[in-house]
Amino acid sequence: MKKFALVGNPNCGKTTLFNSLTGSTAHVGNWPGVTVDKKEGVYKKASEPVQIIDLPGIYSLSPYTDEEVVSRNFILDQKPDCVINIVDATNLERNLYLTTQIMEIDVPIVIALNMMDEVEKNGDKIDVKALEEAMGLRVVAISALKEQGLAELMEMAIGECLSPRTATTVLQDTALIHLIGDCSIGMQGAGVDNPLFHAVKLVESDELEIKNHPQASKMVEEFRKTFVDDKFAGDFEALIADARYRYITARMPKILRRNPHSQSSVKMEQANKIDRVLTHKVWGIPIFLVIMFAIFHLTFSENFLFIGGLLPEGWVSCQGTVFEGVFGDGGINSIGVVLQGLMEVATTALGDAIRGAMESAGLASWAIGLVCDGVLGGIFAILSFLPQILVLFLFFSILEDSGYMARVAFILDKIFKKFGLSGRAFIPMIMGFGCSVPAMINTRTLSDKKEKVATIRVIPFFSCGAKVPILTAIAGAIVIKFGVGNADLITYSMYLLGIIVALLSVMLMRNTTMQGDSSPFIMELPAYRRPQFKNTMLLLWDKAKHFITKAFTIILASTIVIWFVSHFSFNWTFLEDERINESILAGIGQLVQPIFTPLGFGKQAGAFGWVFAVAAVTGLIAKENVIATFGTLAACIVSGFVADEALEGVDSVVQMIEMTGVTIPALIAFIAFNMLTIPCFAAVATAKAELNFEHAFRNTVIYWVCTSFLVSSAIYLIGTYWWTAFIFAALVAVVVTSIVLYNKGKIKLPNRRKV
Ligand code: GDP
Ligand code: MG
Repeated sequence: MKKFALVGNPNCGKTTLFNSLTGSTAHVGNWPGVTVDKKEGVYKKASEPVQIIDLPGIYSLSPYTDEEVVSRNFILDQKPDCVINIVDATNLERNLYLTTQIMEIDVPIVIALNMMDEVEKNGDKIDVKALEEAMGLRVVAISALKEQGLAELMEMAIGECLSPRTATTVLQDTALIHLIGDCSIGMQGAGVDNPLFHAVKLVESDELEIKNHPQASKMVEEFRKTFVDDKFAGDFEALIADARYRYITARMPKILRRNPHSQSSVKMEQANKIDRVLTHKVWGIPIFLVIMFAIFHLTFSENFLFIGGLLPEGWVSCQGTVFEGVFGDGGINSIGVVLQGLMEVATTALGDAIRGAMESAGLASWAIGLVCDGVLGGIFAILSFLPQILVLFLFFSILEDSGYMARVAFILDKIFKKFGLSGRAFIPMIMGFGCSVPAMINTRTLSDKKEKVATIRVIPFFSCGAKVPILTAIAGAIVIKFGVGNADLITYSMYLLGIIVALLSVMLMRNTTMQGDSSPFIMELPAYRRPQFKNTMLLLWDKAKHFITKAFTIILASTIVIWFVSHFSFNWTFLEDERINESILAGIGQLVQPIFTPLGFGKQAGAFGWVFAVAAVTGLIAKENVIATFGTLAACIVSGFVADEALEGVDSVVQMIEMTGVTIPALIAFIAFNMLTIPCFAAVATAKAELNFEHAFRNTVIYWVCTSFLVSSAIYLIGTYWWTAFIFAALVAVVVTSIVLYNKGKIKLPNRRKV
């Protein structure tokens, strides 16, 4: 099968093109640095299938960043049949800089001139023929987003790879061309592939080349001594970069004709004005916090716009119908809550239908219990949160696609620097809100090992989609049981708590065990774009698919296991629901329960308190399991002990929580524990693969366990006995002072021998 590689600057639309060509749903984000690893797919619409490889975005082929190394090595070593060089037509000059480097490799190339829809909208004109002449490469105008020109592009690429292409360079008229030529001949003699490319990189004093070709490198040094030039003082890399830009700039007037009445300059002006507000020194962060709260309000609030007080006393929507309370109960429900309510109506109806069918078929009561309470109780409890998760991600995706998230990274870069992290580390952290696994993989772009370790450790603190049910269900329980707070305020504060703990952790680590340089980070603000319906829908579809697949695999299996061990005693007799406290699960739960006593949901949680311990432990497999386990157990406990009530889904979870003796601080501590502790199996496996040096992985697991216990017990203790705040404050003061003194060299630890 033929192999085509997509190469281009960050944010030029490579992943969009990749998705359009291969029908994949890889993550598209309107900011640089989202794709770190290469992705592969197959284009099937040509006469023969073609393998397409999406490479990370790069500005040059010099090995300064990991992305550059990945992309460079791929082209040189894997020898794709054709390189599709994607060029952002709205930013031609900068994008063509990379093109002038790729053309120095002996590989067929086609330029995909992307974002032509925007160029046309601005009324600018690009002369494709002139561009082809200038670069000596074939060019196809496309719009990856609108899927225009894709078939032509692929046809052209398939045609180009029929005959080999010899490298060319735009450095012909420079003073270095003879040196490059000599090096190239030398390399060719030594049997090196792509002699021109390596020769140019050698003259640029590229580290890798000097190491690989010491002989030729001497020649360059000799030449440098005799070289007279005031402007670059023998800095050949700068001289070459300048020559590349001059080559492009000289040809631009022929290629690009700007519309004198173009809207693009007006738009730039507007974008700058917006940026001045959104990235403001003082207001930037408060604006971000308000936007985030608005999102949480729209997703989780049961008192939309806080107008509940204006409504008549005891107002309940659709009273007496199955939709009772779905649209509001006291206040008006926000969109996320409405959707969640509708989902619950649907799952309840489905559950009742299945139960009815099983009963009329005369099945044994244990079988009905297993299916209806065990499996459906768990899975429906978790599925009912799918709408809210999707609403939340809809908003996140809009923030990202519009270009706003890149602005947030820009503001935070300054703060991060004080914490010893580069803004580069912000991208994997924000990705952690989606899922820790790709976020941890994204840390590969951090060149400093210690920065990478510190970042991976805090990624799980950025609460992922799977933790939404925990936050919402417990927040719901707090509101219903104690009649205090709002679900949106609680979930929002918990997200903030995660962020704050993450920042404090990073600060602590970067000042103690994880000191080091931070990765260079050039944040380029992408253009503001109208969020693309298609991108958003792809992302949501991907989320939903992932969530549902998990519900019917890992979570299904876990609920079955939970049901069995909660219905058999240690001597393997079957137990009815009301004897659940004699079950194997209860036995094990009661055994681990005391561990959580300092956190408030241990021994003091009463006879059923072991459910918290069990849920927290099953959550180590997948975080959805926490509420699924609650669902399964609640179905049994509520039907076993609250005989006259037929509660289902989340309501039964709330009822069960009410039956335990936990307090508000304990419930908050429970959320915090699940947010900060060891994440799911998948994330642990990823962390293990990424941190395969020294004891980084082992220490990371220890770090998660310690942080979750410390923070949650602080929450519980301070919430219950306010005066313990002084003890914690004193502890923090001691730690901080010791670190400061240690870093100033005022105190020394006994020397440990280096192994
Ligand atoms: P990558 O970093 O090169 O992989 O770029 P992405 O594929 O993630 O796209 C970056 C941004 O450009 C996203 O917001 C896309 O929606 C947008 N984009 C990509 N292709 C086009 C296009 O042809 N036209 C327009 N208007 N926007 C595009
Ligand atoms: Mg990408």
